[in-house]
Amino acid sequence: EAYLEAIDAANPALNAYVAVTHDKARAMAAASDARLAAGEAGALEGIPLGIKDLFATEGVHTQAGSHILDSFLPRYESTVTANLWADGAVMLGKLNMDEFAMGSSNETSYYGPVKNPWRAKGSNLDLVPGGSSGGSASAVAAFLCAGATATDTGGSIRQPAAFTGTVGIKPTYGRCSRWGTVAFASSLDQAGPIARDVRDAAILLKSMASVDDKDTTSVDRPVPDYEAALGKSVKGMKIGVPKEYRLDGMPEEIEALWQKGIDWMRDAGAEIVDISLPHTKYALPAYYIVAPAEASSNLARYDGVRYGLREAGADITAMYEKTRAAGFGREVKRRVMIGTYVLSAGYYDAYYVRAQKVRTLIKRDFETVFADGVDAILTPATPSAAFGIADQDMAADPVKMYLNDIFTVTVNMAGLPGIAVPAGLDKSGLPLGLQLIGRPFEEETLFQAGHVIE
Ligand code: GLN
Repeated sequence: EAYLEAIDAANPALNAYVAVTHDKARAMAAASDARLAAGEAGALEGIPLGIKDLFATEGVHTQAGSHILDSFLPRYESTVTANLWADGAVMLGKLNMDEFAMGSSNETSYYGPVKNPWRAKGSNLDLVPGGSSGGSASAVAAFLCAGATATDTGGSIRQPAAFTGTVGIKPTYGRCSRWGTVAFASSLDQAGPIARDVRDAAILLKSMASVDDKDTTSVDRPVPDYEAALGKSVKGMKIGVPKEYRLDGMPEEIEALWQKGIDWMRDAGAEIVDISLPHTKYALPAYYIVAPAEASSNLARYDGVRYGLREAGADITAMYEKTRAAGFGREVKRRVMIGTYVLSAGYYDAYYVRAQKVRTLIKRDFETVFADGVDAILTPATPSAAFGIADQDMAADPVKMYLNDIFTVTVNMAGLPGIAVPAGLDKSGLPLGLQLIGRPFEEETLFQAGHVIE
């Protein structure tokens, strides 16, 4: 009830929730009470969570931030949310997001932008919470849920976590089932939690992760007790610092934050080593070929026939065209056009195949440093703190918006786990985050090291 009250009071201004499921939350909480009374509590019994609107929730608003999924009510539950409910968690509602998870500011949502609960000192300017999981990050930061689900294709968990002073982890590709999660770029998409601290993130990921017959890319490996990794000494842990992440023109504050992180790890007993990931500079352009290519294919299913919106047309082709023209927003259309272009005959080899080769090189860069004994890699999470809503520079030039993902996309391209941990405030009092990147399926290392930084 306290969370529902807080949401009802704060959400009209923040716009973090697109649907608040009061009745369902109360019914789930009552069932939790009964299990608690019977001594049958699950690991998350009674814990109230917000769910990114990319996860299908049975009979409950699921529109992926898009007009084209108008009034779509799934008849099934995503595996990730089913896992959470099986552990006793309670659903508060569905969280706003960039349309089909395409964006870094939550401004591409059909439901309007989400506000960051943080503001710069002495300023009235509303800031973005980051994206695409902006609703998740904003709701966690504003105490409108105890934790939230999110997804990350190129940074959508880690960048919003960094912008809101919360913790977000993108686990290794395959750790969480993608079944019932609306697809953006299937070879990059992963679910993960956004939480208030590393411990909460560890507890939530434990519950979300599972192998699943319904997603053949989910991996059959035991899910460790991540919480047990917290508080373990990092003495002797080898932390790599990649020189290619030291960008020209990087704000001094980001540079200083990174150095602080290095010092903290060293003081805690870790060994710091300089490393090189030589193909880093190709990651962003390659990502913005691979992700739109997969998106253009995944989004072909929204044709006005199977779900959501349908605009009348003289014949079926006209109906498709009108539905897609009306149902998709500008950024989604841009991605569909880029994706269709790079997959078309004549351009396929020049763009798509080449981007896939670059992806392999990026993956090998990481494999080489891990083979040299590096346990985790420390970088900034984002190149800046949260920026203003309707930033003119970014509105004028989509590539400026894409540059937000410069430190995060490599991790998705290589399928690795990455965590963003709050590490301090900039001079205007806004949160900044550091990122730790780990070996495949070694999320524990990230929780262990992240706990030293937070
Ligand atoms: N900002 C990136 C994009 O727009 C990443 C989004 C995501 O991780 N879902 O594609």
